[in-house]
Amino acid sequence: MPESPEVQALAEFLAKRMVGHRIRTFTVRDQRVLKTRPAPDPAGEQVNGVLRFGKYLDIDAGANHVVCSLGRHGWVRWHDTRPAEAAGAEVVARLGLDDGATIDLVDAGEFRSVGVWIVPETADVPGVRKLGPDPADLSFTRADFRRAVDGRRKMIKAILQEQESLAGIGNAYSDEILFAAKIAPTVYASALDDEALDRLYTARTTTIRGAIDARRGLPPEEMKAAKVAAMAVHGRTGEPCPGCGGTIVDIAFGGTTAQYCPSCQH
Ligand SMILES: [Zn+2]
Repeated sequence: MPESPEVQALAEFLAKRMVGHRIRTFTVRDQRVLKTRPAPDPAGEQVNGVLRFGKYLDIDAGANHVVCSLGRHGWVRWHDTRPAEAAGAEVVARLGLDDGATIDLVDAGEFRSVGVWIVPETADVPGVRKLGPDPADLSFTRADFRRAVDGRRKMIKAILQEQESLAGIGNAYSDEILFAAKIAPTVYASALDDEALDRLYTARTTTIRGAIDARRGLPPEEMKAAKVAAMAVHGRTGEPCPGCGGTIVDIAFGGTTAQYCPSCQH
C-alpha cells in the first residue's frame, strides 16, 4: 500500500511532467473505481499542479481536481509517449496529455481498491476532508502529535495508521516508526509516558521526512523496490534486527499485522 513518502515522490514526479500541459483524454476503464457520478470530464483542462493529501494524489485540472486513492495495490505507470499496445486489465484509468505522454492508473489487486473522484475542490472528497495533521508537513508540531495520541486507550500501531488522527501513514511506515522509537506495536497510547511520546514524535517526523527525501526523484517504477529495500523491520519476519541482531517477529492483531523486534521494542 503506497504511503505518504511514495505518494509525495510520485506527486512531485508527475508535477514536473504534467504542469502546464492540457489533458487530451481521460478514460475510466473500470467504472467501479469512479466515486463521483455523474463525473465531469477533465479533458481539455490544463494541469495546474499535482499534490499529495495524506495518501491521496491530487491532479489540479482547472475547473476540477482528479483525486486518486491508491488503495492497497494501486500505482501509476508513466509513458513518455502514447502506448501503442492496448491497456491491460490492471489499467483502471488512463490520462493522455497534449504532448502524447500517458499516465495509467493501475490496480494490481483482485478486488479493486483504487478510487477516483472528480470534484471542484480536493476537500470535496470525504476521506481528504477528514484527514488529520500530516507529519511530513513542516508545521506539524509536538502539540499536534499529543492531541492525536495522548491518553488514548488504543494500541499505538492502530493510532499511527488512523488517517483522521495523523495523515499519510499505513502498515509499513508505522512499523518503521515504532522500531525507530523502540516502542512495541501493541502498547496502548495511554501507557506511554512523556519521554516515550517524545521519542515517538521524533521517530515519526524523521522517518517520514527521511523517506520522502530518499524517494524524491525516483521514477514511479522504482518506488516500490526502493521502499521495500529501505525497511528495517517491516516485511522482515525471521531476519536479524538491524539494532541488536535478534530475530524480527510477526504478530497479527485487530485485523492487521506488525513486524517488530521484541528485544529492542517495549
Ligand atoms: Zn532488536
